[in-house]
This record gives sequence, C-alpha cells and structure tokens, in this order.
Amino acid sequence: MFDTIIIGGGPASLSAAIYLKNANKNVLIIEKEVPGGKILKTEKITNYLGFIEEDASLLAYKMYEQTQKLNIPINIEKAIDVEDNDNEKTVITDKNTYKAKTIIIACGRTQKKLGIQNEDKLYGKGVSYCTKCDASLYKDKVVGIISNNKDDVLYLSNIAKKVIFINYSKKDVNFDNDNIEVINNEKVIKINEKNDIIKSITLSSNKEYEISCLFIETGYTPNIDFIKKLNIETKNNYIITDENMKTNINGIYAAGDIVYKKVYQIINAASEGMVAALSIVKDLK
Ligand SMILES: Cc1cc2nc3c(=O)[nH]c(=O)nc-3n(C[C@H](O)[C@H](O)[C@H](O)COP(=O)(O)OP(=O)(O)OC[C@H]3O[C@@H](n4cnc5c(N)ncnc54)[C@H](O)[C@@H]3O)c2cc1C
Repeated sequence: MFDTIIIGGGPASLSAAIYLKNANKNVLIIEKEVPGGKILKTEKITNYLGFIEEDASLLAYKMYEQTQKLNIPINIEKAIDVEDNDNEKTVITDKNTYKAKTIIIACGRTQKKLGIQNEDKLYGKGVSYCTKCDASLYKDKVVGIISNNKDDVLYLSNIAKKVIFINYSKKDVNFDNDNIEVINNEKVIKINEKNDIIKSITLSSNKEYEISCLFIETGYTPNIDFIKKLNIETKNNYIITDENMKTNINGIYAAGDIVYKKVYQIINAASEGMVAALSIVKDLK
C-alpha cells in the first residue's frame, strides 16, 4: 500500500511528490497524458520566479527531472474511480487498481472552447485561454477578448495598445478606458490566419478586425467526473479545501487548479502541492 497516490502529474502533483519523497513517504503519481500538466499547453513562461523567460516544455521537463532524481514512480494511466474505506483508499485506473493511505487530487481543469474554425490550429499562435499568463506577450498590440469577467478586459487594457472586447453576455457593458472598444450583440465566427499566425477575427456581422491575439476566457471545467461518487464538497465543481489542502473527506487532499480559489497559476499550484504533502506527513505520523 502506498502512503500517498497523487492523481494528476502537473506542477501541484510534482511539487507534492518531491516533498513527500523527501519525507521518506512511499508515493505514486498517476498521470493520464504526460507529466507537466497545463504548462505543456503554452510556449513561454515569463512569470515563474527564478525563470526569466523559460521555454514552457523545458520548465515542465525540469520539474519532471527533479522527481526522477528522487525515483518517484509516474504511471501513465487514467484514474477512473476512487473508493474510500477510511484508512484505505482505492484508486482504479484504466489499467490497474492501487491502494493508498492518502490521496491528493491534482488533476487540474479543462478550458471551454468556442469550437470555431482555426481555434485549435492557432492555439499558442495568437489564440490564448489565459489572459493573466499571456497578456505580457502582446504589449502595445491590438488584441481581442471574449470573457465573462470584466477584470480580464481591464488587465489587458493596461498592457495592450487597444482591446476589442466582444461581449457575449446579454447585458451591455461599458468601460471608461479609451483603449477598450466594446462590441455588443456579436459573436466571433471565424479566426483568420496568415502563415500559421492569427491575422484577424470575423464577427457575425461579417466585420473583420485585425488583431495579434484573441483571448478566450469563457470558463473551465474542473476534471472531477471520476470522483463524483465520493461526495467531496465542491463549489462550481471546484474542490473546497481548508488551509491544509484537506477536503471534507478524511485522507483526501486536493491541490492546484482543481481547487476552488481566486488565482490559477503555477506558483500557487506548486505551493498548494507542498502544503498538501506536509499536511500528509503530519497526519500519517
Ligand atoms: C494556455 C495556458 C497558459 C498558461 N500560462 C501560465 C503562465 O504563464 N504562468 C503561470 O503561472 N501559469 C500559467 N498557466 C496556468 C498553469 O498552467 C496552471 O495553473 C497549472 O498548470 C496548474 O497546475 P495543476 O498541477 O493544478 O494542474 P495541471 O497543470 O492542469 O495538471 C493536471 C494534470 O492532471 C492530469 N489528469 C487530469 N485528469 C486525470 C485523470 N483522470 N487521471 C490521471 N491524470 C489526470 C492532466 O493530464 C494534467 O497533466 C497557463 C495555463 C494555460 C492553459
């Protein structure tokens, strides 16, 4: 039986695993794709402390390498169910069944897409799903944004030359900032490219706007379907934890983007992984 099984292999998980292994705990990571998580969905990381401008996949690799120096096992399997029998948890994957004393759920969230032409192709080439992460790459440029959060639009307006806000909500929205143009009652129907980079967007009125990036902030879905049976306390489908990253179920912890909180970045995902790990070290004594 493992001391801890961590479900998900992103920064929250890898950070937790390092702290657990350093505390001599027997830990297993289960990751359905590749270790590194969402970091692998972007190109450059410019806001993670200690890395001035890091290739995102290299940063993910360094995190993975750090776990491999400690011989932490990472099994590439998809968790499909978790059973709770108080001091014994069972994780069922698409390939195996494992037992552990504790579990950390660190399986992140999936962004909602618009489902329009070129959206997938231009992801990272002028289509972004993370304003706070990528806005700095478009300093003094003209950008577009679809968001249900006014703060994203204001954040962008401090960096970009001009922000075209395509308002998908039914309510009219106004801003005082001169560099924000609000477009009501329209949808983006097409993202246009030139040489594999975004060139413009076409709206439902057929009007075309030249932009350097389209930020799509239409929300996320936390990856919790496989633990629905557990009755873990959630808000808007995000897991609620206390300050020790404990859920309402004894021995089950959560960390990173799966958690209900205000900010979703690598630095706090890694920090929460560390807190969950140290809570487990204390609780397993
Ligand atoms: C485009 C983009 C750019 C970003 N840029 C930045 C940035 O510049 N700076 C910054 O700080 N943050 C950035 N972020 C946010 C950052 O990537 C996340 O906050 C961080 O990765 C969250 O870490 P996590 O470990 O909680 O989850 P994730 O990184 O999402 O990792 C979760 C892992 O769980 C796995 N998983 C899911 N379900 C299962 C299952 N059933 N079984 C097994 N494994 C499963 C997934 O495959 C994934 O690898 C960006 C995010 C995006 C989308």
